[in-house]
Amino acid sequence: MIVLLIGSGGREHALAWKLAQSPRLTKLYAAPGNPGIAQHAECVDLDPAHIESIVAFARDENVGLVVVGPEQPLVAGLADRLKEDGVLVFGPTAAAAQLEGSKGFTKDLCARAGIPTAAYGRFTNAADAKAALPRFGLPVVIKADGLAAGKGVVIPATAAEAVAAIDDMFDGAFGGAGAEVVIEEFLEGEEASFFAITDGISFVPFGSAQDHKRVGDGDIGPNTGGMGAYSPARVLTPELEARAMREIIAPTVKAMAEAGTPYAGVLYAGLMLTAEGPKLIEYNARFGDPEAQVLMPRFGGCLIDLMLAVAEGRLGETDPPTLADRTALTVVLAAKGYPGTPEKGGSIAGIEAAERGGAIVFQAGTALRDRQLIANGGRVLAVTATGASVTEAQAKAYAAVDRIDFPSGFCRRDIGWREVARERR
Ligand code: ATP
Repeated sequence: MIVLLIGSGGREHALAWKLAQSPRLTKLYAAPGNPGIAQHAECVDLDPAHIESIVAFARDENVGLVVVGPEQPLVAGLADRLKEDGVLVFGPTAAAAQLEGSKGFTKDLCARAGIPTAAYGRFTNAADAKAALPRFGLPVVIKADGLAAGKGVVIPATAAEAVAAIDDMFDGAFGGAGAEVVIEEFLEGEEASFFAITDGISFVPFGSAQDHKRVGDGDIGPNTGGMGAYSPARVLTPELEARAMREIIAPTVKAMAEAGTPYAGVLYAGLMLTAEGPKLIEYNARFGDPEAQVLMPRFGGCLIDLMLAVAEGRLGETDPPTLADRTALTVVLAAKGYPGTPEKGGSIAGIEAAERGGAIVFQAGTALRDRQLIANGGRVLAVTATGASVTEAQAKAYAAVDRIDFPSGFCRRDIGWREVARERR
């Protein structure tokens, strides 16, 4: 089978690494890919935003399955166009990807289907939004409705900050994404990510993870795309996972199907584990980055088989996926300056040495200059190791990090800290 993978980040390197292990794969293309992905795929210089050029390539090259890594092409309708041309695709249609593309859409769906989530209101002008603030108390959560690359959420602690955040959003701080604003009740608890695979009717769990969004040790500093993750998140116990399946995933799949917009792909639920049980914070319509880098090393099955079963609507007839009962942990090496303007061009060496010790180094913002690997983006590498515990996986991952020579890079030194502390107890 010829497979085309869309994207160029660490998540896509992890997907390429896993796809390449499938005995069914005859050829893997990646658009546009990166030097790490090029170890497993032929990279083609296509822009994922140019839907027609992707569709034409898939048709011309007899691609049997397209795997879409990032959310933007899904929200823009890439899966719809591929399906129209009879190309199988792993990833939801634009109508279904609204679960990620519009926070208001998802909140309304939760309200209709009785899915536990924070109380909310949707607003299209600043005056109404401000007038509603007293209903929510403080702190309050203010979100731009559309895609804002993880930056469209503000949690003000005072009423004055809340008013300013509302004004900023309606003044265009997040562009079109802020034309509508969602205000939410602040939920207390620990966060965990939970993944389900669905073909629109059947659905199966696909593991959990915990991400580290802040740039600095101890979860301080600005938000990033994610500085590291580990899987499974044991704080999501089997009982809580069963509840999340029953109370959140099942009614979502059902409601989407009933609306005539069945959701097929990976449903990534950001959960808050509150005293009353798991509540949905948000949905993502794709694997997380860096969560894919810890899920793929635990997944023992054939990724092509699983994705084809989803694309062909026969997930219910296939064996549910199994994930190894080991912990995987990934540490992101970012270029200095990230999440602001990252330093580009810094040299990177030592990846082979790190991998010889048993780690896997997934590449994200890298490039080749005169055969030398250099940094070419904010998040540059995701150094991943597995172990019998988070403590063990963490030690192995940082031993591998220390073998990498990347003077213009940095990383957090405490990925997995919550679970390491629990394991110590
Ligand atoms: P990302 O893509 O980075 O996950 P996003 O922009 O899609 O983020 P959300 O996931 O909805 O937005 O919110 C980002 C973060 O804000 C959450 O991970 C959580 O820490 C916090 N947050 C969001 N909603 C709430 C809430 N109702 N109560 C408490 N914290 C919240």
